[in-house]
Amino acid sequence: MSYYPIHTIPDYYFIDDLLTDEHKLIRQSVREWVDSFVMPKIDDAAQHHKDIPNLMKELGKIGALGPYIPEEYGGAGLDQISYGLIMQELERGDSAVRSAASVQSSLVMFPINEFGSEEQKKKYLPHLASGEMIGAFGLTEPNHGSDPGSMETHFKDMGDHYLLNGAKMWITNAPLCNIAVVWAKGEDGKVRGLIVERGMEGFTTPETINKWSLRASKTGELVFRDVKIPKENILPNVIGLKGPLSCLNSARYGISWGVIGAAIDCYCTAVQYSKERIQFGKPIASYQLQQKKLAEFLTEITKAQLLCWRLGTLKNEHRATPAQISLAKRNNVKMAIDIARESRQILGGMGIMGEFPMMRHAANLESVITYEGTHDVHLLITGNDITGINAF
Ligand SMILES: Cc1cc2nc3c(=O)[nH]c(=O)nc-3n(C[C@H](O)[C@H](O)[C@H](O)COP(=O)(O)OP(=O)(O)OC[C@H]3O[C@@H](n4cnc5c(N)ncnc54)[C@H](O)[C@@H]3O)c2cc1C
Repeated sequence: MSYYPIHTIPDYYFIDDLLTDEHKLIRQSVREWVDSFVMPKIDDAAQHHKDIPNLMKELGKIGALGPYIPEEYGGAGLDQISYGLIMQELERGDSAVRSAASVQSSLVMFPINEFGSEEQKKKYLPHLASGEMIGAFGLTEPNHGSDPGSMETHFKDMGDHYLLNGAKMWITNAPLCNIAVVWAKGEDGKVRGLIVERGMEGFTTPETINKWSLRASKTGELVFRDVKIPKENILPNVIGLKGPLSCLNSARYGISWGVIGAAIDCYCTAVQYSKERIQFGKPIASYQLQQKKLAEFLTEITKAQLLCWRLGTLKNEHRATPAQISLAKRNNVKMAIDIARESRQILGGMGIMGEFPMMRHAANLESVITYEGTHDVHLLITGNDITGINAF
């Protein structure tokens, strides 16, 4: 259960008026699921650096895996606003939960649906949608993060199969994955997507331990040593970096919504606590310094909600540009991390405790501000869009 009544979740500018009944129903059901399934388990999972048992199957049951994937492949055929609202509600629980759904939906199901063969779609998508199969997305490498075009992972055409060599790092769900969509260069230097399955000889997924962030999410490496990849496992319909970049667009869009959930969890907790906590004979909510913080949180959350709603409508119309998505990802993640850090102070010493969510969200958001393009990289994308000059 949340520490605050969920009816106090803010909709200051009546954005609900812009949503359909279906949107509101989807949001409500995910909201309630987060309260009953995630909230009771998340502190223990994060404190002990373990994932929530059965998370992926439960996410599958509530339709959070590939919500916009067509129904014939096991998705729910929903629009982009629905996807965004689901991400928002999941991240109110924890960024690890949203990350699990984001990676599966935007980075694994999306490329298979967009660029895969009919056989690949039928083979993988329904199992990914139900959460029986867990997917990972391998783009980042030990030597190439912000600059994926310089990747070293490569494959050779051996006639009846491909031979894959290289390594990916910082991969969400690597230690748990059944399959990984891996981006690698062919002999012509062009980037292609390959579906690598657990059990293929030479494919290992060592876990990255000792994280201070996203502790309820498993992160690891994908290591390929002469892995034989059947020819039918290449994504046939995309060549070049636009493949992984289009996946990132979809995931970054989801993050823009998701982090609003983390900010809402911190804001609502701070409002509730500040009304209950008495110092100098009065609730701390009665002091102007605390009210300033709360007023600024609500202002920033409302701006972020409006940005996302508009971006969602553009995305539904296939008009959202990568630069528009970068702007929203950058703005909203910074908004959320600032609210997490500042709201922690409202709780004083209690703010560092696991009973309250601020430290966990603040630590998680350190990853979110880095992955899917760092804060600085998104600024450079906006700068490029404004000036036409690439400053990378
Ligand atoms: C918890 C977690 C989960 C992740 N999950 C995945 C995943 O599932 N799949 C995947 O492929 N990747 C994943 N990543 C990787 C993530 O996308 C990268 O960490 C990110 O892209 C940054 O790359 P890097 O860490 O190598 O940093 P670097 O690229 O080395 O950047 C270091 C710093 O230099 C700055 N910088 C880089 N280039 C420039 C420039 N041209 N101008 C100015 N500044 C610059 C950056 O902004 C940053 O501040 C994950 C990362 C984390 C932390």
